[in-house]
Amino acid sequence: MRVAVDLHNHSCLSPCGSDDLTPSLLAVEAMEQGIQILALTDHNSARNLVAFSQACEICSLLGLYGLEVTTIEEVHVLTVFPNLEDALAFGSFIEFLLPPISNDPKLFGNQLVCDVTGTVIDRVDRLLISGTSLSFCDVVEEALSRDALVIPAHIDRFANSVLANLGFLPDLPYTALEAIHLPVQADTHNLTILTGSDAHSLDQVGRRTCYLELEEISYEALKAGLRNPAQVRYRK
Ligand SMILES: [Zn+2]
Ligand SMILES: [Zn+2]
Repeated sequence: MRVAVDLHNHSCLSPCGSDDLTPSLLAVEAMEQGIQILALTDHNSARNLVAFSQACEICSLLGLYGLEVTTIEEVHVLTVFPNLEDALAFGSFIEFLLPPISNDPKLFGNQLVCDVTGTVIDRVDRLLISGTSLSFCDVVEEALSRDALVIPAHIDRFANSVLANLGFLPDLPYTALEAIHLPVQADTHNLTILTGSDAHSLDQVGRRTCYLELEEISYEALKAGLRNPAQVRYRK
């Protein structure tokens, strides 16, 4: 079956994310767009994943629990977990590795933690868009050792991408790659290339959803499907 998959989205926890993009509204909007497998991947924090998991259940979506980790080289890497507890543990680990720089909401935006009703229950002080102290290879290996899907983000972007910041794609066992424009003009190691919406506001939800031929809507089927690069379809 053809399944609509979108593994790259932010919420109001990311300083660059719109304040009205609560985890629940992300799930509702994704459901309305027909997305069937949806990940929330805020910058270097997992704190909105609890509300997101409850919202996905209400919306009958397969929610996956992610972070977009910033490496010491300022490369963005998507790390996506099938279960909430593993993502929360990884989120605490990653937040601990951020430099002790406070967010200036006027400069960078708010970092809001919400419950499932959209009520703000906390604000994160530490700036979440800084680079962690982990290298690109360390992030990839650490997340793989925790059984996450590991997907270097927007590899064709001119900033915060593995190709722009490192100049090449190190030979590591990534789950897949994410790009914005296809085809990618680089050696992509025969890996599956996904597109993701990287939504920072409600109107961006679903803008780059992709479609995979899967046996069923499950994490296991997604993982198996990602091993076959030929079967991904992209939004026109
Ligand atoms: Zn990014
Ligand atoms: Zn992003």
